[in-house]
Amino acid sequence: MLKSINPFDQTVVAEFPLMETSLVQQKIDKAGMAYKSWKRTTFADRAALMQKAAALLKANKEEYARTITLEMGKVLTEARAEVEKSAGACEFFANNAEKFLADQVIATDARRSLVSHHATGAILAVMPWNFPFWQVIRFAAPALMAGNVGLLKHASNVPQCSLLLEKVFHEAGFPEGVFQSLLIENKTLEDIIKSDVVQGVALTGSEFAGTQVGAIAGKHIKKTVLELGGSDPFIVFADADLEKTAKIATQSRMQNAGQSCISAKRFIVVEQVKDEFVSRFEANIKALKQGNPFDAHITTGPLARVDLAETLEKQMNASVKQGARLVTGGQRTQGNFQPALIDHVKPGIPAFDEETFGPLAAVITARNEEEAVALANASRYGLGASIWTQDIEKGERWAREVESGSVFINALMKSDQRLPFGGTKKSGYGRELSEAGIKEFVNVKTISIA
Ligand code: NDP
Repeated sequence: MLKSINPFDQTVVAEFPLMETSLVQQKIDKAGMAYKSWKRTTFADRAALMQKAAALLKANKEEYARTITLEMGKVLTEARAEVEKSAGACEFFANNAEKFLADQVIATDARRSLVSHHATGAILAVMPWNFPFWQVIRFAAPALMAGNVGLLKHASNVPQCSLLLEKVFHEAGFPEGVFQSLLIENKTLEDIIKSDVVQGVALTGSEFAGTQVGAIAGKHIKKTVLELGGSDPFIVFADADLEKTAKIATQSRMQNAGQSCISAKRFIVVEQVKDEFVSRFEANIKALKQGNPFDAHITTGPLARVDLAETLEKQMNASVKQGARLVTGGQRTQGNFQPALIDHVKPGIPAFDEETFGPLAAVITARNEEEAVALANASRYGLGASIWTQDIEKGERWAREVESGSVFINALMKSDQRLPFGGTKKSGYGRELSEAGIKEFVNVKTISIA
């Protein structure tokens, strides 16, 4: 049984039985049948349906946002923004897929050489609960526009979101089988991945889930794109605009109650401005309002599950035991974790070495810019990063030295459908969004005519 639990008060709001093996097999077969005709549709046909999906997301924003908030606890304004962003990605790939996947003629010794792009089959998406609409749409919009079909295995705490997403594509008019949600357990994933119908797997989640699903896919020679955890550095140089820096630091770490793979987690500040940065950051964090995510004045809802809050508390306590100083916050009641700031964090301490998936900011002091960037790179992760300086040329120079999939200078690190998104090191591989993202699950075919 999959349970939908309101994370604010732990009430069970809905229950869904797991799908029987025979039903899952029927859905895989249906995906295989749907693919045969879907891959032959024109970009214009697919785009028309994708635009309808975007329109539905906009029209039903309130209903979808309320379901998101009810199931995983983010504040309602953020849930509304997530649905809007999802609609934008549908429109973007509806408008750009044909251009991204156009033939590329390449001069060689042959009479004519070109690269063409072809759909490959069903792509399985294993998705997390933290942005339960956006993560799925970010996968589905490019995949379907490329002519692939989608199977979704969503996180087990967001079954209502999973079913609503299937409904969006169904009501938009996508043919039966082009996008299906599977209510299943992780242990049955191999049965799906090994099917010939499935030609790729996109997983967004923890490093552990990435190793498990990546290993199964490797065994069956299925391509994977893995978007895993992060411990993004937020690097503050002495010439940064500290007011803006502390404001965006708070937004980056605390939005979605800190449950974002690309939220800044390690605040690496050069020593000249460290005390002033900490005092501004502390004031901003103290001004946050924790509570029921449906209340309009609340900035920070509960974590999505009690175990996530317990893990965060353990990481915080262990960090303090090993020399970090608790500046503010950190009280926990069930899944409600008071936004917290710790200072004097160093390599070897959990808040530096591990991903912290909740509202806990860790400040690290660097002697100079060089040491700040070295500390940024002293992580097993490499998803996003930001650098704060008024000297943008210097910022760009250092950005090239940071080991991560993205670096933003003087701006909030965020995903943007026009730009590639993904990680390095243990944050995973492959890219989503943009032209790079739509090309992950296509056959890049060479045609050469002598
Ligand atoms: P999980 O990795 O446990 O869950 C993510 C998805 O993977 C869920 O659908 C989950 O299913 C599935 N999953 C979990 N374990 C396995 C397994 N052994 N085999 C197959 N599938 C599995 O993440 P958490 O719920 O712990 O969420 C937080 C983590 O996700 C953080 O570490 C965070 O960094 C990462 N994440 C990364 C993002 C990125 O873009 N890079 C974005 C969001 C989160 P089920 O729910 O049924 O267990």
